[in-house]
This record gives sequence, structure tokens and C-alpha cells, in this order.
Amino acid sequence: MTVERIEVTGIVQGVGFRPFVYRLATELELTGQVGNDSARVFIEVAGTQASLDRFAHRLVAEAPPLARIETVVRRPVAGPAASLFSIVESRRAPGERTLVSPDVAVCDDCVGELLDPADRRYRHPFITCTNCGPRFTIITSLPYDRPNTTMSGFEMCPACLAEYRDPTDRRYHAQPIGCHDCGPVLSFTAGASAAASGLSAIDHTIEALDAGQVVAIKGLGGFHLACDATSDDAVGLLRDRKCRPDKPFAVMARSLDHARELAHIDESEAAVLLSSARPVVLLRAKANNGVSSLVAPGNPLIGIMLPYVPVHHLLLAGRAAPLVMTSGNRAGEPICFRDDEVGERLGPLSDAVLTHDRPIQVPCDDSVVRLAGAHLLPIRRARGYAPVPVAFRGARRRVLAVGGELKNTFCVSSTDHAWVSQHIGDMENIETLEAFEALVGQFRSMYAIDPDVVAADAHPSYHSSNWARRAGIAPVVEVQHHHAHIAAVMAEHQLDPFSPVIGFAFDGTGYGDDGNIWGGEVLIASADGYHRAAHLSPVLLPGGDAAIRHPCRVALAHLFAAGIEWDPPLPPVMALDGVELQLLRRQLERGVACVPTTSMGRLFDAVASLVGLRHHISFEAQAAIDLEFAAETGRSHGEHYRFSIDGQLVDPAPVLRSIVADLAAGASVADIASGFHHAVARLVRRLAEGARMSHGLHTVVLSGGVFQNALLTSLCTEILSGDGFETLTHSLVPANDGGLALGQAYIAAHRTGEN
Ligand code: ZN
Ligand code: ZN
Ligand code: FE
Repeated sequence: MTVERIEVTGIVQGVGFRPFVYRLATELELTGQVGNDSARVFIEVAGTQASLDRFAHRLVAEAPPLARIETVVRRPVAGPAASLFSIVESRRAPGERTLVSPDVAVCDDCVGELLDPADRRYRHPFITCTNCGPRFTIITSLPYDRPNTTMSGFEMCPACLAEYRDPTDRRYHAQPIGCHDCGPVLSFTAGASAAASGLSAIDHTIEALDAGQVVAIKGLGGFHLACDATSDDAVGLLRDRKCRPDKPFAVMARSLDHARELAHIDESEAAVLLSSARPVVLLRAKANNGVSSLVAPGNPLIGIMLPYVPVHHLLLAGRAAPLVMTSGNRAGEPICFRDDEVGERLGPLSDAVLTHDRPIQVPCDDSVVRLAGAHLLPIRRARGYAPVPVAFRGARRRVLAVGGELKNTFCVSSTDHAWVSQHIGDMENIETLEAFEALVGQFRSMYAIDPDVVAADAHPSYHSSNWARRAGIAPVVEVQHHHAHIAAVMAEHQLDPFSPVIGFAFDGTGYGDDGNIWGGEVLIASADGYHRAAHLSPVLLPGGDAAIRHPCRVALAHLFAAGIEWDPPLPPVMALDGVELQLLRRQLERGVACVPTTSMGRLFDAVASLVGLRHHISFEAQAAIDLEFAAETGRSHGEHYRFSIDGQLVDPAPVLRSIVADLAAGASVADIASGFHHAVARLVRRLAEGARMSHGLHTVVLSGGVFQNALLTSLCTEILSGDGFETLTHSLVPANDGGLALGQAYIAAHRTGEN
């Protein structure tokens, strides 16, 4: 008889690990105990050496589906063997941390019971078990036990407690369980009318939705604004109230089969839709799918997600029409998640509210992803993915990285892990900044991080950077924007921080070392520094950032720089009147109120306008998205579109001249758009080959918002891999500025020298 202590780290709490250990030990007729402390699951187990080895093997091989084991350490201990196997009380040691599970969509077993009239939890809106349910968003402190969650106020009834204590039950030690007798309760209010509570709240909500109303619905990480996705009136009403003219809304479909009626879905996409993270997946919409054209105006993609909490299943059961489910917030603000705020913040946007009395501790939006083939491209990383950490082995410092300005996330890192926060939002809003501050505090305490340095974007006026300078938490390290983009990919792939890569950072806007707006950058970069190997030629952007909303102005600026006449019927010329054109020309000639930019995002905008796709935008990257979609049906590889390269400078003028000539010759927009994408991919290969020749490097990293373009990412990966490069891009954090914080942390954690 041997006694061993086994310690397991990773995401092993809140995922059914202790019940699993219990069942395994019992099956193998081992005795001992299992428990959580704040950093790990610990097991003390007694048996023959052979059975202990079998136990240790199956511990990893058969771990619960949601567990992510990082390490298993076994050591023999002296001591009397217990006569039974049991689950013991959690212990908390100060300063230690465990990994917190993300929220998990309600599982099929629970949905089965939810819809089974014979089950005692039939239609219980908070049904959950060891394998599913809320986690991250209800945790108030660690270790993960019911008193440390927002379920602490709900005392289990005898029936639930019996399940919780029964090792053979699938709710054994499932922390958030409840039932009709003891669980949270729904309530529905519509304006001043009397509230309905319990299951009748579901019926009222369905009635309101059927009547074309907008209902604020509390979910896992905050409120949604929901309405009938097939009703132009309802969707139009929601758009008016949200002051959101074009930006697509996500839709929730009842089931995968139902989603297939709305969009084309391949196997990889189906797997992600059904995954326990249940993100919004951007899919190619089917024609005449019954969804209002106002859901995603002029957009060939539709963002679809499947139900992930029991309330969604109850609302959608038996319902043919999908629902718009968009984040419950006013334009620019973070998601509303507190009941004491919902009246003030969402009252003006909604006709009714469906809520419940289980508080949300941590706000968390829906995640959004796209697929490029089988490759997952995160667009917005939040519910279901946060707070899974990235391994950060060998880090020299603990860091708080505050991220960028738009699509902000932050990151805290220890010497072995980095935790990127969920999507927070655009920082120009005081409410967003407050949400950011609150979450920074939560992450620091949850992971017991007292940072050695604070990393921030080098931009002089990003709100995040100013916050870092003001906060006085630790010395501030400024990180160049595009360097951070490249480093984020290096961190994801756990590359050697000191081995340089060939980094392509293509995005809209980032502060450059020379004070200009960068965004079409080739950086030879490691965590320890970088140099700018090449970049797009600077083009004057009239009015600076204001031009971003008007791709026609960007197009005209590019034509001006390329020496191409502004003649009708060139579409961007037609988009402005004579006076505007004259003013713009004078502005460019004199360089008044113009900011030089090397942005690749702006070049995509310019081409989108040049071919007549879009001259004005109401959300970021709208024109570039149009160009990508147009390219999908094009056949041209644009062999005659050739950027000229002179030293560090990459000049798009020859490409623009060829496009103008093709337009005049009657080439299709699809072919020009396709040709342009291919031309950019060939440019990437040429520049990568140059860097390989001069630096002997062969690892290429692609980052920056432009690489949310699935077509461009696929083309670049294909063409580079065919040429012998190792090509790496994002699959954990977004290529857009939502990934910056991870890169900032990686640089600040590893770099040598002071701070
Ligand atoms: Zn379940
Ligand atoms: Zn109960
Ligand atoms: Fe960026």
C-alpha cells in the first residue's frame, strides 16, 4: 500500500474535476480525499503502486471536457490511509491563485431536463450541472465554491442539497445549482405596468417580442436588447433607439438546423457554433432567409449564435423567428449588467425588461469569431473564452498592460501566465473607463498580481495610456502600437521572446515613433525591440482621423499622392461636389491640417471607394469589409497590380494607376477587388523574401486589424507557406486592437534593460 499526494493545476475548478476524481478513485477502489485550494486540486490517495499509476494516467486521459490540465505533480507521502474516498472542504492560502473557468453554455443533458415535463426542473430557467453554467461571471472570490459566487444568497433546498452531496449524481458538487424551490427567480416589467415573476415572465417576454417590442434580457454577462429579427419595424426601432444605422446586429437561432436556414454553415463553423463557448459566428447569409435586411444592411455576413442559457431555450422553444440579440448598451458604452442601472441605461432603449435575482459579478459581452477555412479568427474575445490564460513562461516581470483605445482589453501577467481581459469597449467614454478600472481591480485581486511595471501604448493621448501614467501603480513602459501587435502573436505561439520574426502589422491607425500615423508596417521584431524594415509610403490624410469616416476623401488623398487626376467618372470624385473637391485639393496642396499616414487599413478604404463600393462609413472597417466581400466572387489575381518598393518605402501608386485603368476598361468591381487582395498578398511575400535574404529569418507573423480579413489572411498564409515560411497569426486574441494588451505585456515582461 502506497500513499501519494497528487497536485493538479490548470483550469480544474468549476469544471467537475473533484467529482470526476471521486468517481475514478472509487472505481479503482482507492481511498483518500480530494479538495480545492486556491491554486490547485489536491488529491491524497492510497492503493497499490499499480493502481496509483493507473489512476494518475486516467486522471489526465479522461479529465472532464472543460478541464485544462497544466501540470500534475505526484509525490509519496507518509501517513495512514483513509478508509473511504471523500471530497473535503476547500482551503485558501493567501497569495495563491487558481485558473478560473469561463462560462459554459447549458449542456444537452440539462436542456433535455429543461424540456421534459416529468423532470423536477422542467422549465427551470437556471438549470445547470457540473458540466455547464455560469462560472467567471458569478465568481466573487476564490476558490470556486458556492459562498464565493453570486449564488451565495440562495440556500439549497433539501432535494438540491441531496444531489449536491450524492457522488453518483451529475450535480455532485456543482456549485450554482438550484431548482424551482430554491433557485433564482425571473421577473418581467414593462414600463409602469405591474411586474410578472416566475415562468409567466417568459410568456410576457414572448408576447412583447411577438408584438414587435424591444426587450432587455439579462443573460450571463450582461443584458441583451432583443427583438424579432424578422420584423423590419422591430429591428428599425432598435436601430433608431441605439443610434446605430448600419453596424450589424447578432441573431440568435433556436438550433443549428434553424441556423442553417439563415446562413451557409460548414463543418468547422458548426463546431464553433455548438462549442461550449457559444460565440457569435460570422457566417455567409442565405438569400431570402426571412431575416430583416435591417439586421445587417448591405452585409453578406450574418452573426449567429445559438442559445447558451436556459432562458434562451425557453424563449426560443417553439419559436420560428430568430431574435436579434445585441449587447445591452447605449452607443459607445460598456454592456449594462446591473439591475440597479438597467432602468436608467436601457429604459430608453427598451419596452420591457426580463431579469432575475442572481447578480452578475463580472460583465462579459458575447464573443465574436470568424473562420478562415478551419482557422478561428477571434474578432471580439469575451464570454466563453475569457479568462483562459496564455502561458507566459520565463517572464522577468509581472505586468499590467492597459491595451489600446478602441476595442480595449487589458492584460495582467505573472511569471508564468497572462490573463487577457474580456472585451471592454472604446475608451473615450467615461463609463467605459470606469468599467475598465473596476475590471483591472478584479483581475489584480483574483490573480493576486502586484505589477512590477505598467505597459501602455506610446500614443500621447490614448485614454488607457493616460490612465496608466496617472494611476501610479508602477513605472510605465511605453510600447509602440505595431510592435505590440506583432508581440501578441509571438505570445500566443509562445515563441522565443528574443528570436526576431518578420512581423507584418497592417491596421488602421497606430502611433508611430516619428509621430505619424502608422499602419502598413514590416517590423523585424522580438520582445526586446524592433526595427522598421519597410512601410507604405506616407500619404497625407486630410483632417487626420476625421477622414476615416469618409473613404472617398482617403481615396482622393491617395490619388493625389499618386499623381492621378481627379476626373469624372472616378467614383470618389463623383462622391463629393465641386466645392468640396476644390477645398480638399487646396488642403492637400498646402498640407494644412493633414496628418501623414502609412496605414494599410486606409489603403483598403481608398480602394473600396475607388471602385465605388462605399464612400462613407458608420463603423470601423466597413469599407474594407465591402471590398473583401466583393473580392470573393472575383476571378482576377491582378498580376499587373504591382507595388513599387524603394528601400523601406512601399508605394501603392502603380497599383492605383492600374486599378483606374481597369475601371476605365470596364473591369468588374469583383475582379479588381480580388486582384487587389492578391496583390497585397504578393507584396507580403516579396517583403518577407527581402527580410529572409537580409536577416536570415523565416518566421512570419501577421497581425493588426486588416488581418481580420479572412480572404487576405488565407491568401497570405497560403502564399507564404508555399514559399517555405512559417506563418503565424492569431487564434486566441483578436488581430485588432483587442489583442494589443497581450503584446504589450509580453514585451514589458521579457525585455531586458531598465524597467
Ligand atoms: Zn448541464
Ligand atoms: Zn432546490
Ligand atoms: Fe492596431
